[in-house]
Amino acid sequence: MKILKFCPNCGKESLNWDSEKKWSCSNCNFTLYNNVAGAVAVVIRCGDEVYLTRRNQEPKKGKLDLAGGFVDPRESAEQTCKRELSEELQLDIDVKNLKYLTSLPNVYQYKEIDYNTIDLFYEYSVSEKFEVSLALSEISETHWIPLNEINLDDLAFDSQKIFFREYLKNF
Ligand SMILES: [Zn+2]
Repeated sequence: MKILKFCPNCGKESLNWDSEKKWSCSNCNFTLYNNVAGAVAVVIRCGDEVYLTRRNQEPKKGKLDLAGGFVDPRESAEQTCKRELSEELQLDIDVKNLKYLTSLPNVYQYKEIDYNTIDLFYEYSVSEKFEVSLALSEISETHWIPLNEINLDDLAFDSQKIFFREYLKNF
């Protein structure tokens, strides 16, 4: 985690991080919260295969990832699923077919700042496999992977490793 020392309000070198979720200034009482952020991850599933993406940017560049991302302000988690699948995969989904599964905490490090997230996992089943043309900014490849061939070490994030460890027990 990057150490920020200077208060953005008064400019004095008196900013303190509480090691959990907020910075506060001992000089002017300025407080800035780094609260838990909502994020979604969608298990796109066809039979016993899932559709995973390969990350094209940091953090965790090159690792496998579920489609998804951060919840935007004033957005429901289901709307986030629909927007992210449209942006990342050009998929137009019906939110009524999203099935909520579970939530898990994660840490997403971006430019030396740690963002604690709550990852909401959804399942979206399709009857036929598809391929998409990729938005190269976020994703380099996509793969249909049989569930029994998923290697947890290839997954980008701890929350997804924990999720799949349980998910794979029940398919
Ligand atoms: Zn201050």
